[in-house]
Amino acid sequence: MEYWVSMPENGYTSDLASALAPDLLERFLRYVRIDTQSKRDRERSPSTPGQLDLGRLLVDELFGAGLDDASQDENGYVTATLPGSDGAEHVIGLIAHMDTSPDAPGSGVEPIVHRAYDGQAIELPRGATRLDPETMPELSAKRGHDIVTSSGDTLLGADDKAGVAEIVAAVAYLAAHPELPRPTLKVAFTPDEEIGEGATLFDIEGFGAECAYTLDGSDIGELQDETFAAFELSATIRGVDVHPGQATGKLVNALRIAAQILSALPSDGLTPETTSGREGFIHPYRLGGTPGEARLRAIVRDFDEQRLREHIELFERTARDVVAQHPRATVEIDVRRQYRNMRSYIETVPEIVQAAELAIRAEGIEPVRTPIRGGTDGSRLSEMGLPTPNLFTGGHEYHSVREWASVNDMASAAATIVRLAEVWARVGKVVSAG
Ligand SMILES: [Zn+2]
Repeated sequence: MEYWVSMPENGYTSDLASALAPDLLERFLRYVRIDTQSKRDRERSPSTPGQLDLGRLLVDELFGAGLDDASQDENGYVTATLPGSDGAEHVIGLIAHMDTSPDAPGSGVEPIVHRAYDGQAIELPRGATRLDPETMPELSAKRGHDIVTSSGDTLLGADDKAGVAEIVAAVAYLAAHPELPRPTLKVAFTPDEEIGEGATLFDIEGFGAECAYTLDGSDIGELQDETFAAFELSATIRGVDVHPGQATGKLVNALRIAAQILSALPSDGLTPETTSGREGFIHPYRLGGTPGEARLRAIVRDFDEQRLREHIELFERTARDVVAQHPRATVEIDVRRQYRNMRSYIETVPEIVQAAELAIRAEGIEPVRTPIRGGTDGSRLSEMGLPTPNLFTGGHEYHSVREWASVNDMASAAATIVRLAEVWARVGKVVSAG
């Protein structure tokens, strides 16, 4: 097939990637302009109407590409099917999320394409935002690439519209090239991933895939089958509130006790800012209340369940020890599981990750196996019965006004999907021959 020719001269990993890039970029620039920022503590799905607008556009584009069952359900999930080649045995899912992070401004995104990046600092027109390769080693590696940024005062939304655009471009390409072998591909675009709800109303049975891949990673080559395991903790401290003028010997200030707990937690280790790689942490993220009642909230993360339990015990013990010094105060600790490390679900089906490795290598890229210091839709989908590792998208500096994406790497991601389809088509043949 003509696209297997090795690396072209134009900075793309293959002629296939080079061929996919223009369509992919056009779609991406269209999607990022739609405000799909999600909102915490949602009252309905999706949490914001802009996600429905993007979903409707995606249904139209999937129809246009020939996926004629494309639809959006009442919770905002978009799904579509690309039927497999004759005799296809496998049903493989491709998933990306439509919402963007609530942690940086997300409305009025005006993307800028910086053609053939020269390796210098990029000054954006608004917000005095500067992308400095000195402090961004990933950016300095992209000299010669086409780079997309926002205008400086909003996020870009490559997280995860890069993944959305890569999936649409890849399935459109496959639909237009029926001679390329492929399994049945099921596409899903989820709402509200950034607020931890992307998997909540996902109809896994209706989706009907045996496994899936999220396109929600970052640098080229990333293939992730491990995420943090996650808990949220809160300590509610009740003191004794008395008018401060008559408080002598009576007032027990819950807010002050909460602050003591906070300062008694480890700060020279076991925090997000002092850990990396496979180390976990306790991260207090909200403190509030009154002298009568105060609440300290924290998230706890680790890759290992046993160590995660130890971090939770440390938080509980610290809170109880501090409160014990104030006999008239009480504390109530709430421990809530958020998600598990997806590895335990994925490692029982090794061919899912093997297929992705083969596809990435077929695109001329060396797979990069890093654990995700966070969760993805795949964390909970894997737990719910749909094993779902994560693939790179080519985006960087997520959840910030400095967010950027390499068009070249996005094209490599789309090309990897096309190759993944071929790998799964071949796995089918091997299985049926055996
Ligand atoms: Zn994401």
